[in-house]
Amino acid sequence: MKKALMGLALAISMVGAVAVLPAWAAEVSPPNGELAERILERAEEVQSRAIRWRRDIHEHPELGNQETRTAGLVADHLRGLGMEVETGVGTTGVVGVLRGGKPGPVVALRADMDALPVKEATDLPYASDVEQMYQGEERSVMHACGHDAHVAILMATAEVLAGIQGELEGTVKFIFQSAEEGPSDYVYKGERPFGARQMIRAGALKDPEVDAIFGLHVTSAAPTGVIAYRSGPTMASSSDLYIDVIGSQTHAAQPWDGTDPVTTSAQIVSGLQTVVSRQTNTLSAPAVVSIGTINGGSRHNIIPERVEMSGTIRTFGEDVQKRVNERVKRTVENIAAAAGAETEVSIIENYATTVNDPALVKRMLPVLKLANGGNVFEAPLVTGSEDFSAYAQEVPGFYFFLGVTPGDRMKTAAPNHSPEFFVDDKGLVTGIRALSLLATDYLRQAQQE
Ligand SMILES: [Zn+2]
Ligand SMILES: [Zn+2]
Repeated sequence: MKKALMGLALAISMVGAVAVLPAWAAEVSPPNGELAERILERAEEVQSRAIRWRRDIHEHPELGNQETRTAGLVADHLRGLGMEVETGVGTTGVVGVLRGGKPGPVVALRADMDALPVKEATDLPYASDVEQMYQGEERSVMHACGHDAHVAILMATAEVLAGIQGELEGTVKFIFQSAEEGPSDYVYKGERPFGARQMIRAGALKDPEVDAIFGLHVTSAAPTGVIAYRSGPTMASSSDLYIDVIGSQTHAAQPWDGTDPVTTSAQIVSGLQTVVSRQTNTLSAPAVVSIGTINGGSRHNIIPERVEMSGTIRTFGEDVQKRVNERVKRTVENIAAAAGAETEVSIIENYATTVNDPALVKRMLPVLKLANGGNVFEAPLVTGSEDFSAYAQEVPGFYFFLGVTPGDRMKTAAPNHSPEFFVDDKGLVTGIRALSLLATDYLRQAQQE
């Protein structure tokens, strides 16, 4: 997830551990009651090891495309479970294939492995003091987005499903990908894919060909163990925006002798806000345009030649993304032209909208509810972006959120990407149950069609 899941405030209750199927489960016609029950119990059994893996990975975070230690742990674990394992997929990605005892379709489960260039500010005993190179600079590194939890949940899910391999009616593919947050080993300017797109290009959805994919993201915006989801568009597309405003340098006491890129940039920053407020139908889909950096000048009394800005554009749906991006470019170029300045505008569409397949969501919702006793709620649209979207462009996908904030800390919890981000390990078991049940039941349902 590229940005924090702000606004996922949910009026929901705390969830307790579910040891057996709840009474209402019969009404949602769970797959195979006895098998589902065993999955729930087995998830409980692997939970303590999942917590150990999570804390170990948290203490040893690795940036995008440098996840070699994490990938090694994953590959050893999957091999130990008897899977066919491919390593070095994309860059550091790992793909494991678990062939069930019965023939059937192929379902994929995905976790991302990378951490962020954030200096951890928790006092946890397993807090990170790791430093790594980030785009040419030594930086502190932290699992501030919870991808450590995703890896541990998927490793544990692999163990649960390997334990019922003979009963699986098809194949499960485990995709552990690199660089969801972007590459750390080079400066990304759109020239080559990273993360999910790199995995897809390397064949992660092929051989055997994947029929559907599931994934989850932990969030501080929901209480531990609560699941939130949407059908259709769920997380925003994200375009990176780079603007250079080129004027001509002069003494700040005589601005008429040059062309001032500073005042022009200020007008551009304000003008860009009208793309959303005046030129986009926000009734049908929200949009966000934000400028995050603005750099130029060297001294108080010199008008510089150039100002550089960067920002982000968030939209829902491909058409809106194209339209908003065009208008951003037009607004920048015309404001600059009015001032007599030149501009170079580059917009890189790097994350698509994450769209959950409505038919798949409808079909899988009953079994998802078995994971936590029915504490499953509809989430609002999220303006964060997620490269799971790339898989969901290729095959039907379902991506949902798992709460990891203790109920009594909901008001003060630091968001994802914060140096104080915290994952309540009690939530992991729900993630293990959810992914295990989804994979098993997807395969079962496909046999009955
Ligand atoms: Zn993130
Ligand atoms: Zn994330």
